[in-house]
Amino acid sequence: MASPFSDEGIVLRRRAYGDADRILVILTRDHGKLSVMAKGLRRPRARNAAGMDLLARSQLLLVPGRSMAVLAQARPIGPSPGPPDPVGLACAGVLAELVDATVEEGHPEPRVYEILAEASARIGSADADPRLWLALAAFALAAVGGYQPELRVCVACGRELENREGRFVSALGGVVQGDCQAGAAALPCSAATLRVLRRMALADERTVLRLRWNAVLKDEVEAILIAHLEHHLDRPIKAARVLVELRP
Ligand SMILES: [Zn+2]
Repeated sequence: MASPFSDEGIVLRRRAYGDADRILVILTRDHGKLSVMAKGLRRPRARNAAGMDLLARSQLLLVPGRSMAVLAQARPIGPSPGPPDPVGLACAGVLAELVDATVEEGHPEPRVYEILAEASARIGSADADPRLWLALAAFALAAVGGYQPELRVCVACGRELENREGRFVSALGGVVQGDCQAGAAALPCSAATLRVLRRMALADERTVLRLRWNAVLKDEVEAILIAHLEHHLDRPIKAARVLVELRP
């Protein structure tokens, strides 16, 4: 029999299998993304259920199997999350889906793991705005993949962007301003949104956390990031629709 191995991991996807089992997709720190069979996980009082919610982080003991690893043991890492908040849950869903779409199975992605671990802890904590941390994580993932949006020059004419409103064109991967906005199927990008996006692109969390972050800004920043990532990944992020519906 193949020998068991341990790793820590964060749950990206879960689906029911058979009568009582679940197949989990987990991003592990050292072994990359893995599909894992969790036997009996759907039974009441299942032994390992505590650490197996979406974005839960656990120390895992896994046994290599014929088609996928089998979960032998999971021990949650860090504080257990507070009572579920719908916006936090929706943000967790978007983040899990984004990471799942970004990484391939079986290749270790230490930087993606780090981003995911930090963002999932922030999103699960009651004293942070989950939408802000989701946006920061989305930017960080785009930076790792080398597909950050263009925020320096107009993507239509190449002129330097001014401190004014424009529009974000996901097909072009950036912002257009002035005459270049005409006829473009695009999302609004106010001067304030452009400032926030630029700070996020610099991964300047401290400044971002001090910036004004109101409902209009949140909606614009989020819509731009989701559209940009969906365009790049060439697939819809389903959980993002839930987030839009929860907007106050
Ligand atoms: Zn232009």
